[in-house]
Amino acid sequence: MECILVTELLPLYLEEQTGEESRKQIEDHIKICEKCKKELSYMKRSYGEASGYGKIKNIKQVWEKMRNKVLLGYGLLLLLTWIYIVICFL
Ligand SMILES: [Zn+2]
Repeated sequence: MECILVTELLPLYLEEQTGEESRKQIEDHIKICEKCKKELSYMKRSYGEASGYGKIKNIKQVWEKMRNKVLLGYGLLLLLTWIYIVICFL
């Protein structure tokens, strides 16, 4: 595989959008080509920082945790309200 082609496919490779065959070829090429290896590690870094590619997953996880807490909070609030009503009316 040509360096130019590998470099062009790297963004897709990082997003796991390449096919199985292309991915293998890219990985094989990176093993033997220092230039593309550097390019990949540089891209990985800029992907993590600039586009927040890694952060999106984190935000999703945080949101799921938060949602669970919110639901739990609502459940507790409902329960407390219900207890309050029962105590007041008995
Ligand atoms: Zn190369």
